[in-house]
Amino acid sequence: MTVDPMTVDRPDDRRPLWFFGAIKRTDAEKQLLYPENQTGAFLIRESESQKGDFALSVLDEKVVKHYRIRRLDEGGFFLTQRRTFASLNEFVDYYTKTSNGLCVQLGKPCVKIQVPVPFDLSYKTVDQWEIDRNSVQLLKRLGSGQFGEVWEGLWNNTTSVAVKTLKPGSMDPNDFLREAQIMKSLRHPKLIQLYAVCTLEDPIYIITELMRHGSLQEYLQNDAGTKIHLTQQVDMAAQVASGMAYLESQNYIHRDLAARNVLVGEHNIYKVADFGLARVFKVDNEDIYESKHETKLPVKWTAPEAIRANKFSIKSDVWSFGILLYEIITYGKMPYSGMTGAQVIQMLGQNYRLPQPPNCPPQFYNIMWECWNAEPKERPTFEKLHWKLEDYFETDFSFADTDNFVR
Ligand code: AMP
Repeated sequence: MTVDPMTVDRPDDRRPLWFFGAIKRTDAEKQLLYPENQTGAFLIRESESQKGDFALSVLDEKVVKHYRIRRLDEGGFFLTQRRTFASLNEFVDYYTKTSNGLCVQLGKPCVKIQVPVPFDLSYKTVDQWEIDRNSVQLLKRLGSGQFGEVWEGLWNNTTSVAVKTLKPGSMDPNDFLREAQIMKSLRHPKLIQLYAVCTLEDPIYIITELMRHGSLQEYLQNDAGTKIHLTQQVDMAAQVASGMAYLESQNYIHRDLAARNVLVGEHNIYKVADFGLARVFKVDNEDIYESKHETKLPVKWTAPEAIRANKFSIKSDVWSFGILLYEIITYGKMPYSGMTGAQVIQMLGQNYRLPQPPNCPPQFYNIMWECWNAEPKERPTFEKLHWKLEDYFETDFSFADTDNFVR
């Protein structure tokens, strides 16, 4: 069987086992790191950033390496121009017989593992998302946030969920219901899925998927650099950018993007939470949310034009993403520590920006810097940020012939 890019259009059961289609680099890593795979396990995927290009991901001991497969104008494939192939099949055949510059000889195709995510509690909640609060058992308090408490709960004695119980008066139920309608329709693997609500009495319950490791801010602070290093930090940032790129495509604005609003699940899954809620909450946490012209804002995360003129847009979310990158690379440090919100506003007006933290690679700092362009239009899109972070470690094999692998 000759495999060519048309593989993409084949039904799954007719694709070679090693062809995983358009999956992300980070998802390829996750699949290859499952214990079912051994050194040499590999897959070929379509590159997300360079449409029509392919990438090879290979497991070498406990590390996954990625190679960009280049295309010849006349249709062949190569890692290095010294050895070209008419089809991906020939390419795989060759590298299963010799490593010839690859980190290891290719072994077995990566085992495909599907991790199902329940998008709704049951078919009934698809439309009837107001559920009976008696069907939810609150088991363990996970935290208390500015608007109430968060509990681990069990729905219908079967499904683990997170339940946010809101302080009475923290929002107008009608405003919330309007926002929740939209939130429920936003579905993406990197966004916390809203499952259901109980709004008929106080306290209002917001029922979402449960994330075992809590907020990214605490997760980073607890680790403080012991287990988490640049590879994971870039992965976190890429996952958040992917969720935000989806919001961008839906013309939805988060308004409160920060490490405290990103949640951490098992197997290094990171998801954006609390999108849109900032608009409906009556905020009263003075540490982070400072008063400015009657509204209260997380000043250190908020873009200057949003502070000055209430101009919230996806570009003000991009500014906040830059601050979130700062939090990620500093293991959850408070940005502009020692400065008040008012001082920050004044300094930003004089073109001051957060300095490059120690141990922050220039490549990472450049991305932050771009997010803080004074001109909102000049800031990158989340789509671009996503690709940049996905490709952060990817190197062209053909340009690195002497040093054959990418990281
Ligand atoms: P919040 O009210 O959103 O600031 O949440 C308070 C704390 O509860 C967070 O810092 C998390 O540790 C925890 N938490 C919030 N949502 C979830 C969730 N969906 N799954 C697990 N823990 C959560």
